[in-house]
Amino acid sequence: MEPLTAAAVRGSFVNLSKTQAKALNLPAGLEQSDWDTLDYLGWRDPKAPARAYLVLWRDGKPLGLALRAPSTSGSRGSALCNLCWSAHKPSDVVLFVAPRAGSAGRDGNTVGTYICADLACSLYVRGLRPLELPQGESMVEPAERARRLTDRLGAFVDRVLA
Ligand SMILES: [Zn+2]
Repeated sequence: MEPLTAAAVRGSFVNLSKTQAKALNLPAGLEQSDWDTLDYLGWRDPKAPARAYLVLWRDGKPLGLALRAPSTSGSRGSALCNLCWSAHKPSDVVLFVAPRAGSAGRDGNTVGTYICADLACSLYVRGLRPLELPQGESMVEPAERARRLTDRLGAFVDRVLA
């Protein structure tokens, strides 16, 4: 992905007030991120792990989503990330919930999806971070997996913006 500055990240959120966006905790070493290996920038708030953020480029502009992880996941044998389709232990996939953009979000409306708990989808689809469980999509090329990840993330963003 194209690099992002701290100011661009703070200015990108569609479901936070300006005050909230100013106050959020950015990931350590943001400006040194390895942008070539990322489809989106995602991180858990280092001081409040139930809060998470992801930022992607959309129509040439950075677009940020604030997420919350309100509940722990179930106890089934494995769980899939809905963005990158990596199979994980249930504890490594989290139901993240995003307030909808605009007045719907201020009224308390949210949309949710299961995402890798560490928000490292980009690294999993490229094989840059090992996975503990056997993977159904492992025969698919990394570039194709990254493209599908981007498509699924776009569909989730559509739901937040709808
Ligand atoms: Zn994932």
